[in-house]
Amino acid sequence: MKRDKSFEGDSPILYIIATPIGNREEVSLRFFSIVKEMDYIAAEDTRNTSTLLRSLDLTGPLFISCHEHNEEEATAKIIALLKEGKKVAYMSDAGYPLVSDPGARLVKRVLQEGIKVSVINGPSAFLPALLGSGLPTDHFYFYGFLSPKDRERKRELEALKPLRSTLIFYEAPHRIEEMMECCAQVLGDREACIARELSKLHEEYIRGSLVELASLLKEEKLKGEMVVVIEGAKEHESLCIDENQILSLLEEELKLGSPGPAAKKVAEELGLKKSDVYDIYLKHKNEQA
Ligand code: SAM
Repeated sequence: MKRDKSFEGDSPILYIIATPIGNREEVSLRFFSIVKEMDYIAAEDTRNTSTLLRSLDLTGPLFISCHEHNEEEATAKIIALLKEGKKVAYMSDAGYPLVSDPGARLVKRVLQEGIKVSVINGPSAFLPALLGSGLPTDHFYFYGFLSPKDRERKRELEALKPLRSTLIFYEAPHRIEEMMECCAQVLGDREACIARELSKLHEEYIRGSLVELASLLKEEKLKGEMVVVIEGAKEHESLCIDENQILSLLEEELKLGSPGPAAKKVAEELGLKKSDVYDIYLKHKNEQA
């Protein structure tokens, strides 16, 4: 066990700093004060980060490139600088490093060397997408990018299908159409939201069912950066109870009484929530109308 107190002592600390996901006004006062203290900024893309810092009049620190392909060598350099007493921070191109971005190996190695790590909060794409989606926020599962390969993506979605938590994915604009099609196929017609260009001029939340969103994407090529938020599994789905099984039990109960008590009886029998069974009854009734 090792306990690191970020604000005690003067041993070296690697700062992990979140950067804006679009709107530069989202940088915090703490971002300014920490960056001003740094001797070096290690960055996923030094050009992008130096442009960001110049636009904020933060021109002091020197840059070290540290991306997916040179993380090992760059990490050794960063550790050496920290041990010399230099102040170093790491930033990726947008949002939090390590969240669908490089930095995980750097943090692991730095901690192995007994050096502290402290994170400077800031913007990230998945939280505003979740909060604006209108979907449940009490439990959520952030998955990041699904595989670009169809078979692998289906396998990943099959594994996620029984989860009751709201699901959150990142996706590139050139793959969003096939990704949403695949989600509708594997997960069924759940409620979902595409959160696009968050914090930027064309910010948009498109809320609808997976089938509606997949068909919109066939008609309109959506541009920009996107997060996809999808409703979690209903209780019966996570218990692998087929909707038809529920409907046939409901049919029997409806011969004996009204929908409310029928849903209650079926729910008790299958160990489900009455409201979920009632929702299935209403959906089926609307489909028949
Ligand atoms: N590290 C970042 C974070 O903390 O959110 C994410 C970087 S990841 C390489 C880039 C993906 O994040 C994009 O493909 C998109 O799915 C999502 N993203 C980033 N900026 C966004 C924005 N302004 N609006 C919507 N999605 C965004």
